[in-house]
Amino acid sequence: MSDRESEPGETAGKLCEKFDAIYFDLDGVLYRGVNAVDGAAEAVNEVILGGCGVAYVTNNASRTPDEVAYHLVELGIPANASEVVTSSQVAVEILQSHVSLGERVFVVGGVGVEQALSAAGYAPSRDAKNCVAVVQGFGPEVSWRDLAQACYLIQGGAIWIATNLDSTFPTASGIAPGNGSFVDAVRNAVGRDPDGVGGKPDRAMLRRTFEVTPGDRPLLVGDRYDTDIAAGIAAEIPTMLVLSGVSDIADVWRSSLRADYLCESVQGLVLDYPEIDTSGTTHQCGQASATYDALKLRILASGGTRIDRLRAADSLKWSLLSEVGLSSFTHGRIALDLGAQSSVGA
Ligand SMILES: [Mg+2]
Repeated sequence: MSDRESEPGETAGKLCEKFDAIYFDLDGVLYRGVNAVDGAAEAVNEVILGGCGVAYVTNNASRTPDEVAYHLVELGIPANASEVVTSSQVAVEILQSHVSLGERVFVVGGVGVEQALSAAGYAPSRDAKNCVAVVQGFGPEVSWRDLAQACYLIQGGAIWIATNLDSTFPTASGIAPGNGSFVDAVRNAVGRDPDGVGGKPDRAMLRRTFEVTPGDRPLLVGDRYDTDIAAGIAAEIPTMLVLSGVSDIADVWRSSLRADYLCESVQGLVLDYPEIDTSGTTHQCGQASATYDALKLRILASGGTRIDRLRAADSLKWSLLSEVGLSSFTHGRIALDLGAQSSVGA
């Protein structure tokens, strides 16, 4: 890239060139179920070849860092276990401020939860007998019986730590219930919240990630506002939201949080990211432009690609919100029209 400032509307170079460390969420970003997101391996390889540090940061507690790294390598993404940060590891860190090492802890969730507990020095158990704490994470084998045993322990005074609260989980077949939905089931039975929650958006997760892969200019890439984007905002790290996972255009439009960059998928990292011209009442991104129709309370974007229309419209929306003030001009009142089959009603 040249060292002069980019002119508005012109190409500003590949997005990844702005950063020296990139923290990838996994489910919905690099893969969905067992399958890689299209172009994910190529994008991560290019980022690494460009000299960028990487870390893989997942709220999914079911697998161990070794298993996660193995899966990534199978998909053609270079990774080793030391670059993987899981919500199980962070949940066990939190547990240590409540329960002494060596105690017996009831495991709900996959082997990732169990291994994080034993690595720290606890005695993980699939049998609730004599357990003083419950660590609850995601696992495809989690059953009603597991949840019931957890409830009985918690009602008896056991400490309860959840690995994460993602309510949904993207799989190759669609959106499935995530750990947050199972935590809600326990919460409904015991009538209280967990004593601690690891995972994004908790800052402990990104603190650990930063130790794994430090950077002066880090970026967090994720597919969820309530975990990924919220975590980046809490840690004051720029964020990129991808549409390959849980969030769709309607979620972008209605979110009360703002991602710094919007991309169709992680491939956007190695594509040109046009500067958005915000100087006039029309915001321009590449060949796309967005205008505000005050009578109809609607932002209309046209031209260019779908993602450039969304970028221009999102930019204009936030600019309107900052001008007019959230209290008098709430999100829900502005409709979005991106052209064919991409409208979001107010
Ligand atoms: Mg995700």
